[in-house]
Amino acid sequence: MNPQLIFWVPAMLRLLLVVIGAGVVWAFFGAAAGLAAALLAVTVLVFLQLYYLNRLDRWLDNPESEKMPDGWGAWTDVFSRLYKMRRNDERHQAELAEWLARFRQAMSLLPDGVVIMDDVLFLEWCNPIAQTHLGLDLERDKGMRVTNLIRHPDFMDYIILGRYEQPLTLTLRGRKLVVHLIPFENRRQILVTHDATESERIDMMRRDFIANASHELRTPLTVINGFLEIACAQPNLEVATRQSHLKLMSEQGQRMQNLVEDMLTLSRLESTDFPLRREKVHVKALLEQIVREADALSGGKHKISLTVDGPDIQGNTEELRSAFTNLVTNAIRYTPAQGKIDLQWQNTAQGPQFSVRDSGIGISREHIVRLTERFYRVDKSRSRETQGTGLGLAIVKHVMLRHQGKLVIESTVNEGSTFVAQFPASSVHCDNG
Ligand code: ADP
Repeated sequence: MNPQLIFWVPAMLRLLLVVIGAGVVWAFFGAAAGLAAALLAVTVLVFLQLYYLNRLDRWLDNPESEKMPDGWGAWTDVFSRLYKMRRNDERHQAELAEWLARFRQAMSLLPDGVVIMDDVLFLEWCNPIAQTHLGLDLERDKGMRVTNLIRHPDFMDYIILGRYEQPLTLTLRGRKLVVHLIPFENRRQILVTHDATESERIDMMRRDFIANASHELRTPLTVINGFLEIACAQPNLEVATRQSHLKLMSEQGQRMQNLVEDMLTLSRLESTDFPLRREKVHVKALLEQIVREADALSGGKHKISLTVDGPDIQGNTEELRSAFTNLVTNAIRYTPAQGKIDLQWQNTAQGPQFSVRDSGIGISREHIVRLTERFYRVDKSRSRETQGTGLGLAIVKHVMLRHQGKLVIESTVNEGSTFVAQFPASSVHCDNG
């Protein structure tokens, strides 16, 4: 029905009832009584309107749908429509609050910082990562100008020049940050911050690695080229000299080959395309073979002993062969003749471990922490003399990481070193599975 009719018809009916009632009283009790009755009825109606108006006024102070008063007459309809509007409002507000909470949660999970500012750079909101990146505190700094909070000359220039199409890289609070200001909605700006410290470090490592590898390859190449030039310029060299040149060239060729092989091994160990392929490793057989090769390398100059007390493990035989061989050959290369090298495979409370103890030259404390870095050498000339590539311990470290183990190094200068490859207890092989 037409809402106007819903309002007017009952109102008119009520007035009609008053008039009829007053007419009846007039007919039975005279004009004065009829007028008095009409006045009383109108007063009651007016009072009722005022009563509900007052209730509406009180409800408006705290307009919760649950507290909506019940009405009478036209007020029933007014209150029920207000109730519906309020309910809708409350539902929208709840949806908005939920959406805002979800937005805040998503923003706090973002790996990047987000700062929302007004058109004149006053801080409105930022996520926790932005607080860490830029040293902001939302509660403390809200409403303050961002250029007063981030006092970095490059950031100031970026804002003043307004070249926002490009991000800005700056070092702030020990971090390499990439910040990008994006204007939106005409009256708002958003500042996105990205921590590039780690990617910068990896980039630097990659650059260093390429520089080191090129340097390592250039040295033997220069030697080989030098001898080849001599051979071309002096075709009638004495046989003995020629033989010695060929021997040196072959050594340098071997050195390059070792280097390339170690680099390939390292890159394979680091690559996620080559996950560890586990199998049963027959540790005793593996170590016995390594000792035979070590004896050949030492040429009887060292006293090498092997004790195997530990169990077989789950791992990759070829990777472990490479790691253990590196540790054993290092022990031979850095231990003078007549020195002792003890190899031991045993089970401990932490898990199985392979230890290589030598009575060699030892390593001073400041070098120990850096030994597993690529191309790090304590004594460059000694490493090269013995065909070292500087990558052996980096390979051992990566193999151990892939086996959830670690490499522990202890050493005393002039007394010797102990390298321990420690495996987790869970790596022990069980025959029933
Ligand atoms: P390299 O090919 O130079 O031996 P590694 O990565 O195997 O490279 O070893 C890094 C450095 O650690 C070596 O250059 C050497 O100075 C030191 N080192 C490794 N093993 C021993 C050892 N058993 N005794 C003394 N120094 C060692």
